[in-house]
Amino acid sequence: MKTNDKVLIIGAGLCGSLLALRLAQRGYKVEVYESRPDLRKVDISAGRSINLALSDRGLKALRLCGMEEKAREICIPMYGRLMHDTAGNTFSSNYSGRENEYINSISRGDLNAILLDEAEKHANVTFHFNKRCQKVDIENTIAHFKDYETDEEFTIDATVLFGTDGAGSILRKSYYLERKFLFSYSQNYLNHGYKELEIPADKSGNHQISNAHLHIWPRGDFMLIALPNMDGSFTVTLFLSYDEGEFNFENLTSEEKITAFFEKEFPDALALIPNIKEEFINNPTGPLGTVKCAPWFYKNNTILLGDSSHAIVPFYGQGMNASFEDVVVFDEILDKNLGDWEAIFKAYQKARKIDTDAIADLAIDNFYEMRDHVANPLFKEKRKIEMD
Ligand code: FAD
Repeated sequence: MKTNDKVLIIGAGLCGSLLALRLAQRGYKVEVYESRPDLRKVDISAGRSINLALSDRGLKALRLCGMEEKAREICIPMYGRLMHDTAGNTFSSNYSGRENEYINSISRGDLNAILLDEAEKHANVTFHFNKRCQKVDIENTIAHFKDYETDEEFTIDATVLFGTDGAGSILRKSYYLERKFLFSYSQNYLNHGYKELEIPADKSGNHQISNAHLHIWPRGDFMLIALPNMDGSFTVTLFLSYDEGEFNFENLTSEEKITAFFEKEFPDALALIPNIKEEFINNPTGPLGTVKCAPWFYKNNTILLGDSSHAIVPFYGQGMNASFEDVVVFDEILDKNLGDWEAIFKAYQKARKIDTDAIADLAIDNFYEMRDHVANPLFKEKRKIEMD
């Protein structure tokens, strides 16, 4: 691998932007193709998780690329979880039980934007937006694209191609469609989906509830969480079954049913979400799945990084953090000067796969932990009394 190798990255999301930045810093010539418009120019946040928990793992990756300070400027530290019961009582539990341990709430769009800005400062990186990859010829390292603005179809070849195109990865799809090697793949959905709502800022632009906490309303079969945003609002996420239990996405079909559900289960949150009915009806319901696959690479040619190789459910708040960590591990492998891309890909997968499989399983476990929340004895006792 030489720095004049032509590097093609598909997907300029969180992982792709960070990878582009790091490879540019290392001197590679990088072309990045992204299917969506440039998020710095068009508001395209609707439907994806608006904010995310950024942990130490993710910060370490940002530090590697000189981006930690810039990211911290747009972070809100959350020092613990604040649980809300149906009577409006709250119970806090600090992370790790230690003082001053926190995770950060950060806007997906703003974080992605600062990474794009920084990467673009390098003359050896170019981003191409509105260009959707339709398939990859993995044998010849050629990607086929469609330009959304002109409808034109075209191909780009490369020395090496990285698929950072998320959970629905086209590169991953090309692996099993091309049948060039034994490719193992599993995709498992939870029966729960998610829907985002908003607690707006108060009239003075301040947060209406503590912005130093990740708020959780655990209710056994479902739960609500809320993370603070810099503009004083909170992004609220409801995790609920599609079709099981007394309340589910399939049966909450009218404004009356939606209000009755929130009045019964989340009355304190309801009081803070003025547009609950419109938001519940208009905002999409997203699926929650786990993707595992192997191998992540094909010969000297292509490799998957980020969610494309290991999408996980969001209950540990580690999907982005793990995707950022991929870049750190890949960078460490590059330092070893292994001689060719295939040796690098092999070493990377060997170093990384076991950890990403583990976090995928832990994230599912934490789904049950969070919604049933048993950590706080007071809360547990209260739930027990209610059930009795
Ligand atoms: P993505 O962010 O999905 O980016 C992929 C990019 O590729 C996108 O820009 C997409 O437009 C582009 N693309 C896709 N297909 C093509 C194509 N064919 N051609 C060209 N471009 C393409 N993680 C955390 O660490 N903390 C959290 O708190 C957290 N909360 C979450 C909450 C929810 C509800 C969800 C769903 C996820 C959450 N995650 C969280 C996970 C996190 O969102 C992902 O792990 C992270 O976005 C992965 O980054 P990525 O760049 O690999 O993929």
